[in-house]
Amino acid sequence: MNVLVLNAGSSTLKAKLIDTEKPEKPEPLLSMTVERIGTDGVTHESAVATVLASAASSTHRVDAVGHRVVHGGERFMGATLIDASVEAAIDACSQLAPLHNPPNLAGIRAARSALPNVPHVAVFDTAFHARLPRRAKTYAIDAAVAEKHGIRRYGFHGTSHGYVAELAAKHLGRPLADLRIVSLHLGNGASACAIELGHSTETSMGLTPLDGLVMGTRSGDIDPGALIALLRAGMSVDELDTLLGKKSGLAGLSGVGPDLRDIERRAAEGDDRCRLAINVFSHRVRKYVGAYAAAMGGLDAVILTAGIGENSASMRQRILQRFDFLGLVLDDDRNTDGKVTHERPVAEISGETSRVRALVVKTNEELAIARQTVTVLAQLAPPASAPVIPIAVSARHLHLDRDTFARLFGQDATPTRYKDISQPGQYACEEKVNLIGPRGRIDGVRLLGPLRPKTQVEVSRTDEFKLGIDAPIRDSGQVAGSAPIVLEGPKGTVSIPEGLICAKRHVHMHTEDAKRFGVKDGDEIEVAITGGPRDLVFGDVLVRVSDRYKLEMHIDTDEANAAELDSGKDGDLVYTGVDMAKAEVREKRIVS
Ligand code: AMP
Repeated sequence: MNVLVLNAGSSTLKAKLIDTEKPEKPEPLLSMTVERIGTDGVTHESAVATVLASAASSTHRVDAVGHRVVHGGERFMGATLIDASVEAAIDACSQLAPLHNPPNLAGIRAARSALPNVPHVAVFDTAFHARLPRRAKTYAIDAAVAEKHGIRRYGFHGTSHGYVAELAAKHLGRPLADLRIVSLHLGNGASACAIELGHSTETSMGLTPLDGLVMGTRSGDIDPGALIALLRAGMSVDELDTLLGKKSGLAGLSGVGPDLRDIERRAAEGDDRCRLAINVFSHRVRKYVGAYAAAMGGLDAVILTAGIGENSASMRQRILQRFDFLGLVLDDDRNTDGKVTHERPVAEISGETSRVRALVVKTNEELAIARQTVTVLAQLAPPASAPVIPIAVSARHLHLDRDTFARLFGQDATPTRYKDISQPGQYACEEKVNLIGPRGRIDGVRLLGPLRPKTQVEVSRTDEFKLGIDAPIRDSGQVAGSAPIVLEGPKGTVSIPEGLICAKRHVHMHTEDAKRFGVKDGDEIEVAITGGPRDLVFGDVLVRVSDRYKLEMHIDTDEANAAELDSGKDGDLVYTGVDMAKAEVREKRIVS
């Protein structure tokens, strides 16, 4: 699926078109940034139009749009399909993120009106932190005031923290839920996150993305008394907002700007403000690593990601040095070499003896947003397209070649259609045949038409016992070397040397179904029968794909009985029409 990921800021619109079915190629199909929104007549609408025109000229389809939304407030615990009520809720969260949510929403509105027939999904930076424990999200102020104004810790960068944590767990070969991780997203914005049981349990950004670590231009932690002092000294609220959001952090400390590359260069030349900026930054991060290890009662891995975490080996060294007491030993060579790319997104920088693993992980928030968009849409897919397979139970039956039919029913006879069966072009006939084996006989076995090049008799294992014949399990049509059987019809008896089989269970799929299930002709899959009194997983189910087929799994009566499915009328085929009712009640799905 091609997902257009939009990150609409106040002055820029960043867009990436991502093919989510090509995980091995995380490079986007298209990558664009439209700048200067709000000036020169550039609006979110015109920016979206520019992006869509570019997508159209690239001939890539847009199947869905994933929107980055910074604040999801109390309401959004995960990504969600956007409708009018979701737009209104995002709007209501604007007071919590006045710089971010309004432009996010403007981008959503522009994109939804430009692409009304494509699903739009909102992916929230706050969602990964939605299960923060109360002890972590509560500020120690008057509870009534906090409640009234919604003052609590929400946390941000959740898409990135969640994404890198999953990559780290994969690299470590352990379930994410088993790991205690400190994730450090160190970019222009920066935050730390403690991850336990696969969820954020503590994070450094708070009600707003101003809190916590030192950032490019944001202060991070500051004594709230300092803000009161500045207000009392005559600073206006807007001035304070600008000071803490735009004139602080690395830029404010260094006097050089927010980019650590410039600051590191100047520090190496002896600039004291730049040295201090680096020290304040790294010291703050170290404090959080120690604090979060303590809060979690242990630590398995530290992740460093985003512009600084992925690129500045010297900053990583300052942050992670002398953590031996925590069980983390940095390997200086690995750290210096610790390059990450989209193709190789994880680099281990801890030493062989280090109990706590240190990993540089390349974040990819757009890919994470695209994947979450796909997940939301898959969950919303209507039941008709959910992977449910109708099951038909085949009672014993036979197919005859022209010659055998004539010997059983007479030279001038032709098969008489009794009723159509579910696979297009096939039908049950009025004609019935008796099977005679060395031990016993089974009368009244129905013929299925049309006539075929080779005679084939399909029975269950139980039938074989009755007949006293051991037949092989075979795919339909594969009768060479199968078991012999004697057939008795109204006009004669025919002993066939081969043709008796126990049909291999299989699923007929139309080509489109196969695409939907991600399988091809000849694959073997598992199908789970769930929700009934005898749940069962059928393995070795052969997939047969053709444009002529209708989606349906065929099992025999023994198999149906084992799963407590209706085995239908004796000597007949149970039609999907009958069994479908059951299939609706009992969820049937492909499990692999
Ligand atoms: P991000 O917000 O993740 O794009 O991070 C951007 C920031 O990463 C820049 O402003 C720089 O401070 C920092 N950065 C990127 N590359 C390097 C590098 N090679 N060395 C030090 N800092 C870097």
